[in-house]
Amino acid sequence: HPATPLCPPAIRVRPLTCTETRRGDQRVVHSLGDGTVHVSAARHDATFGFSAVFDAGASQEAVFEGSGMRQLVELAIDGFSCTVFAFGQTGSGKTYTLMGPLAQSETQPASPALLGLMQRSFACLLEQSRSHGSDLALSASYLEIYNEQVRDLLSPGPPCTLPLRWSKTRGFYVENQLSVDFESLEAIANLLLQGSQRRQTSAHALNRHSSRSHALLTIHIRSRAHHPPTRVPQPSTCPSKQGTLCFVDLAGSERVKETGSSGELSVEANNINRSLLALGHCISLLAKPRGKRTHIPYRDSKLTRLLARSLGGSGVTLMVACISPSSHCLSETLSTLHYASRARRVTTRP
Ligand code: ADP
Ligand code: MG
Repeated sequence: HPATPLCPPAIRVRPLTCTETRRGDQRVVHSLGDGTVHVSAARHDATFGFSAVFDAGASQEAVFEGSGMRQLVELAIDGFSCTVFAFGQTGSGKTYTLMGPLAQSETQPASPALLGLMQRSFACLLEQSRSHGSDLALSASYLEIYNEQVRDLLSPGPPCTLPLRWSKTRGFYVENQLSVDFESLEAIANLLLQGSQRRQTSAHALNRHSSRSHALLTIHIRSRAHHPPTRVPQPSTCPSKQGTLCFVDLAGSERVKETGSSGELSVEANNINRSLLALGHCISLLAKPRGKRTHIPYRDSKLTRLLARSLGGSGVTLMVACISPSSHCLSETLSTLHYASRARRVTTRP
């Protein structure tokens, strides 16, 4: 396979929140619907071009259909390792884009129109599974990286830390992670809800329900190979395809001062920032032409180890960069847009 772009990153600008509107924040980010994002404020004036830009009015469905997410699901069914990750400042809309507003409870689900990329992908996957004559075996695992520790979000009881190992055949992998089989949309939606409720969150100034951990939900898709009816017994080595579809909800980048974090919270913030920095570093090295590349320091953080395959190797990755339109978030918004522009130059060989 030829080298392909890591992903044409998609940009999503969320609407101003009530708090921002009440405070009288200016909108400094504008999109003209032609794939460009304009940032204009007193001392800054910059234009960025991307293949997909979603502005404040874009629906969850438009983001699913326009970002290439449906194709990613199909590639995963075809046996590729696919990853989608949302990144951006705390409160920029990452969790909203991936999962929609969190359901209040199992009996009070969010409105279907607001469901995020994850639930839409699950529906697409199960639809395809049915049309494949239920030949797909599906299972899910759900992990979080909190303070540089990997925890299983699906195993019952208090969160347990799992070791992250490396082997020649598997690359980096998490030992003893739980993988739960599912066959219906309800079952996978419940796994997502249960796992999300166990995720570490803590309230601070920017976002009352901000995620303090990176979360990775992986769907494993095994397609059982069709055995054509024959009279001669077939060897049992008939190939079957194994793909994965991984959703990564990154904790937000932030400056400690801005969020009023202190003590335990600033340890968290430093760990979050350190792994995001490691991710940024890997991405900028990967963006160099192949001949000029040096060693990629995946080992610098748990996050980059877990994402190594999707970033550098054989995976197909979609990045959704989330930004706030508010003048208050200007410098973070510019840094997210620069980060996404760099990621555009990364190529992989799926
Ligand atoms: P993050 O995960 O990046 O910290 P959230 O996804 O939690 O941010 O979003 C912060 C707030 O903004 C939430 O209250 C969320 O409901 C709201 N929000 C984010 N994106 C949108 C959007 N596209 N449309 C409407 N509300 C949004
Ligand atoms: Mg979040």
